[in-house]
Amino acid sequence: MISVTNVTKQYKGSARPALNNVSLEIEKGDFVFLVGESGSGKSSLMRLMLREDVASSGNVFVLGENLNAISSRRIPHFRRKLGVVFQDFRLLPNKTVAQNVAFSLEVIGKSQGFIQEAVADVLRLVGLDEKADRLPSQLSGGEQQRVALARAIVNKPAILLADEPTGNLDPATSEGIMALIERINLAGTTVVMATHDRGIVDRLQKRVVELRNGEIIRDQTSAGYQKNPTGKISTNFEGITPASTSESTPSFLAGEN
Ligand code: ADP
Ligand code: MG
Repeated sequence: MISVTNVTKQYKGSARPALNNVSLEIEKGDFVFLVGESGSGKSSLMRLMLREDVASSGNVFVLGENLNAISSRRIPHFRRKLGVVFQDFRLLPNKTVAQNVAFSLEVIGKSQGFIQEAVADVLRLVGLDEKADRLPSQLSGGEQQRVALARAIVNKPAILLADEPTGNLDPATSEGIMALIERINLAGTTVVMATHDRGIVDRLQKRVVELRNGEIIRDQTSAGYQKNPTGKISTNFEGITPASTSESTPSFLAGEN
């Protein structure tokens, strides 16, 4: 699904490469945390997977596309198969919640009927159906990130790439976002999430790929933030059940991915 082989990324004018001979295989349905200190190369790696940037050497294959060789004409078509979420939400400020989510379907020419139904479904999933007509500025940070998630998944992407999606959120709100991302993964979407939130990584016990100075220093299944945690890390979020997780997986997510 994602195959990164001996990839080095050297930005112009930098003394050291941001990524140094990185290799990584991610299978369909995987849930992978990319961890590492700020500057370790997490975002650089995700930008290569999105084809926002190109490797200096090595190969990146995503969904069967060789991203070193893909034509610029095909890139928009390729990106439609990916859902992307960033730390800073990146919503369109003058569009409502529903319009923000609908936008990604309009640009690919879906019918109004399809769009209405898909937007309603996904807003229910993220627990924002009652706020469909608000502007982003009328929402909390956690709600804005739920809109961004809704927008990212409304097109049923095969892969969700999330770059520090909880980086601007408090722990309880982050939990709600993580519960949604877990559900999206359980419904079949491959998830790659960059984070340096120890609490989240320790609690979820997913595959952890750790970067340091642009190199992968660990790739471990069912792992925590650190290989050998020193001392107990408190991750007591039990009892916090966001509204958006109280239903079973809706038919919206039951499709093939
Ligand atoms: P992370 O997401 O883990 O914080 P980044 O991938 O953003 O790490 O950065 C990795 C390294 O690459 C850092 O040293 C950073 O300063 C450098 N870097 C990132 N983006 C650019 C860029 N566009 N131009 C030059 N250097 C960059
Ligand atoms: Mg980053």
